[in-house]
Amino acid sequence: MVIAETAPVTLDLRQDVALLTAALIDINSVSGNETELADAVELALRQLPGLDLVRDGDAIIARTSLGRPERVILAGHLDTVPLPVTGGSLGTVPSTWPSGVAGDGVLYGRGATDMKGGVAVQLALAASLFDGGAEPSKDVTFVFYDHEEVEAVKSGLGRLVRNHGPLLEGDFAILLEPTDGTVEGGCNGTMRFEATTLGEAAHSARAWMGSNAIHAAAPILERLAAYHPQTITVDGLEYRESLNAVRIQGGTAGNVIPDRCVVEINYRFAPDKTPDQAEAHVRALLEGFDVVRTDAAAGARPGLNHPAASSFVAAVGAEPKPKYGWTDVARFSELGVPAVNFGPGDALLAHKDNEHVEAEAVRACLRALQKWLA
Ligand SMILES: [Zn+2]
Repeated sequence: MVIAETAPVTLDLRQDVALLTAALIDINSVSGNETELADAVELALRQLPGLDLVRDGDAIIARTSLGRPERVILAGHLDTVPLPVTGGSLGTVPSTWPSGVAGDGVLYGRGATDMKGGVAVQLALAASLFDGGAEPSKDVTFVFYDHEEVEAVKSGLGRLVRNHGPLLEGDFAILLEPTDGTVEGGCNGTMRFEATTLGEAAHSARAWMGSNAIHAAAPILERLAAYHPQTITVDGLEYRESLNAVRIQGGTAGNVIPDRCVVEINYRFAPDKTPDQAEAHVRALLEGFDVVRTDAAAGARPGLNHPAASSFVAAVGAEPKPKYGWTDVARFSELGVPAVNFGPGDALLAHKDNEHVEAEAVRACLRALQKWLA
């Protein structure tokens, strides 16, 4: 197969931000295939004065250096989940792909809400920072990254933290993930465990010769089923926790008493706890069982007490809400940067075949951020 070298797509950052969103949707950037979009973003940013650029793989950091007392970070991922199976560019549901502003002011297409509307806002904001002579009141770092929609080890933001940590320092970070224009602060942490019970294999016709490891796991399930998850207030926001068995494995054949059973457990814990404290909580509940922690990601406190964060919330005039899922705000939180999600579009439409965003929601997000930075 011959892959033709093509020049990057030219993006007009000063057009209507809804049309810019459509232009971004039209560049396929399914995770692992972000280069074309990253090239277009880099080319567009290089035309702007006053930004220092670093390119790392398919991620880009662009920073102002105005010597302002505060620096804010605006971050977004370039990748999307795969195209709808029934749609796509060859598809049978053309209304969902490719993009276009429909008569009712709605943009359809993969990434419309998650999160090319947000990326368009970042780009339009970068272009408007130095327009008309009014420079922003804060220094700004724009971050565009790859591989958000896949395993965390591939995360472009994680790679930027490792390779360019000092360039990601700041007083406050906003991820432009879809929140319907509200502010979502912090996020729950997540942790996985395996609880294993052992028995003794035997022919099931002579079960008394063995011992059943699946039956031995019943008390684990009973304790989990009886557990009442907590709701915990952190910095004024309420975080609902969840603790669940999410998978169970055991048994080898239809006539063998199982000698091993593994219950996989997922704990979504409020950001008042460190992963070690969360682990201790689960171990106490499952005392007496062989429990191994297999995976953990810390949560993030909402950080809304920080002056930069509270001035942002006041400027956009939105009531902050907690975020239950784990998000990249936690990566900024680990760097000591309070972070929130704030972006156009409905998160419930993310990854759906009818993914769409209202053109006016993208414009409103841009206006709110311009007002805050002015
Ligand atoms: Zn996203």
